[in-house]
Amino acid sequence: MGNIAAIVGRPNVGKSTLFNRLTESRSAIVNEESGVTRDRLYGKSIWNGLEFSVVDTGGYAVGSEDVFEEEIRKQVLIAIEEADVILFMLDVTTGITDYDEMVADLLRRSKKKVLVVVNKVDNPERLADASYFYSLGVEELFSVSSINGSGTGELLDRLVELF
Ligand code: GDP
Ligand code: MG
Repeated sequence: MGNIAAIVGRPNVGKSTLFNRLTESRSAIVNEESGVTRDRLYGKSIWNGLEFSVVDTGGYAVGSEDVFEEEIRKQVLIAIEEADVILFMLDVTTGITDYDEMVADLLRRSKKKVLVVVNKVDNPERLADASYFYSLGVEELFSVSSINGSGTGELLDRLVELF
């Protein structure tokens, strides 16, 4: 199976929550408890009859204060190497941070296919806020709630087209 999607983004945007939803597993560690470090996780998913692999990156040292830019950078570069499509995740509740800009920059310089995913869009009010992320210079955004699942179907429809 050559189809690989990697979820990248700074800590706490919800990568592991999306991974769990896409792979219907509970294997990724969602950042509620502290002290967890784990690098990357691989899971399987299927959508519209197409099987693909999903990679959850990060895990980092929990507690966003402890995360070094270098660790995030390393994970993004590995994802660029090994994935066919990158899911670049952002958090609608925080807007665009310096770390987000750094990740965006690395992805722009790669020639990879990237889907920009604005997470934590749990309700219609937040949907309006999500359009702010067009300021990253992208043509397409996917607003999702990894917690309640809204928007993930549209994201998956697009993802499997790109493999
Ligand atoms: P990661 O560090 O990027 O892997 O982020 P996690 O998946 O560990 O999630 C970080 C925090 O964001 C946790 O408290 C999650 O429950 C929360 N979270 C993840 N997705 C959503 C979402 O769609 N909506 C809301 N409100 N919270 C979310
Ligand atoms: Mg995580």
